[in-house]
Amino acid sequence: ALKKLVAGNWKMHGMSGDIAEIEAIARTARDYPQVDVALCVPAILIERAARAVDLPIGGQDVHFAEQGAHTGCISAKMLRDAGAKLTIVGHSERRDAQRESDEEVKAKAEAALACGLDVILCIGESLAVREAGSAVEIVCAQLAASLPRQADPNRLAIAYEPIWAIGTGKIPTMAEIAEMHAALRRQLQEAYGADGADVRILYGGSVKASNASEIFAVPDVDGALVGGASLKQADFIPIVAAAA
Ligand code: 13P
Repeated sequence: ALKKLVAGNWKMHGMSGDIAEIEAIARTARDYPQVDVALCVPAILIERAARAVDLPIGGQDVHFAEQGAHTGCISAKMLRDAGAKLTIVGHSERRDAQRESDEEVKAKAEAALACGLDVILCIGESLAVREAGSAVEIVCAQLAASLPRQADPNRLAIAYEPIWAIGTGKIPTMAEIAEMHAALRRQLQEAYGADGADVRILYGGSVKASNASEIFAVPDVDGALVGGASLKQADFIPIVAAAA
């Protein structure tokens, strides 16, 4: 089995006063060296967080261009300069609200990897797609279209996040997660050959301490991308412990 990665996505939460919480998370995460732990915080907090802790700190998005006339955007080089070690790309909240396409997500992943940032690439289906019975087909197509052309398998993770499971308390059945992750694994092996076996596939969407153990026991679940339950050490670290 691959070493599990448990990454927090703070989304639009966190101010300078929350650095103490990040320090608490980093301190307790050290008790679980068998698990890779990372926190993706708002861009404006990255530098302070990265100075405060040795835990890998990441961004939640990145622009695909190196620099230029892109008001409000942040390049991979800037994230690196601020101390980030990784970034999320293609989160459904950005694919939806910022209308990011698969092609754009792929370009972002490639730009980040080229700049030395590890990447967590998100994919996932809507409720309508799940109910229509085409989740596996749609999500595999999304992965194929957003995957970087090449990647060091240790520096890329895929996060399968069903949109209807994000922030809702609802999760797929373990059989549904297993079916999706197995299909994504096949897709990765098709794209990268033998290296495809080493790319971690995370599950995301309403992960908490009470469901983490059963989710981590599913074959080809190599960790989790955690939203709401990553904001507090008391909620997040039990999820890390479940991965150990
Ligand atoms: P929740 O864990 O709050 O459901 O969010 C999941 C998510 O979107 C992580 O990127």
